[in-house]
Amino acid sequence: MEKVLFLKPYFSHTIWGGKRLREEFGYDEPGDDIGECWGISAHPAGESIVMGGEFDGRKLSELWSGHRELFGNAEGDRFPLLIKIIDACDDLSIQVHPDDAYASIHENGSLGKKECWYVLDCPEGGEIVAGHNASSKEEMESMIDNGEWDAFIRKVPVKPGDMIQIDPGTVHAITAGVCVLETQQSSDITYRLYDYGRLMNGAPRQLHTAQSKDVIIVPDLPSEDRIKSFQGDGKPGITELISCDKYTVSRVICDSEMSFETDADFLCATVIKGEGSVFDTRVVKGSHMLITKEGAEKVLLKGNMELIVSRT
Ligand code: ZN
Repeated sequence: MEKVLFLKPYFSHTIWGGKRLREEFGYDEPGDDIGECWGISAHPAGESIVMGGEFDGRKLSELWSGHRELFGNAEGDRFPLLIKIIDACDDLSIQVHPDDAYASIHENGSLGKKECWYVLDCPEGGEIVAGHNASSKEEMESMIDNGEWDAFIRKVPVKPGDMIQIDPGTVHAITAGVCVLETQQSSDITYRLYDYGRLMNGAPRQLHTAQSKDVIIVPDLPSEDRIKSFQGDGKPGITELISCDKYTVSRVICDSEMSFETDADFLCATVIKGEGSVFDTRVVKGSHMLITKEGAEKVLLKGNMELIVSRT
């Protein structure tokens, strides 16, 4: 069995995108509006394609359907995770996601969306939107109806190395200059709550006010329950960043050679700094890979690099 499948990402071009994904991560993608790199995806809106090896050219979703042994025969009608690098050159709209139960009923059987962001880079004094300040459902609805956005939206300071968990029902937005690695459920259901009154091609983008009000959680969590800092000292080893019912995400720092064992059905891995090799295949910053069941039993790394690794 192959131990690792290297993946060719899908890129999404957006009004808030930029050039950093090409210039800093080395992706061969044209355009100055690159917003998202979907590095590990079996979502129909943007699929990863295997590069090299026995499964060269195959979609990740095809392997999930036809070669479940690669994934430890994990259960599920679809590959559960989606790993993205998001580069915001401008503010993203303020949004909120449904949970599985709401999405299943109102969004044609889609999964809900729980996600988390590991901050790769951000401006000095950077802030993101995570949460709101309404204390009751009535207050939430009236603040939205009256456009009291400054009072409603909660901005929190972020630094590189922060991990932010965005549960379904959390009002959130990435802001200009912030670059994150996002680990999420494989879903594309987003309710746009507020778009700063911006126009695209002369018209405002569609808002989903009613759905947003349905799913926003009131009252909100304290910010300290949502954000954890992992600046660290850069020492080699494995640090768990977040663990919830949908995923566990860790940071792995390798400074020469290391191996680690897991009982995961499969691992999603992205190199976020440096270069080296995974099972003797060369990888660089920006490389995305799926480590199969057999590989996940004992992962071998060499080089000077940092990876974000996730599992279900
Ligand atoms: Zn989101």
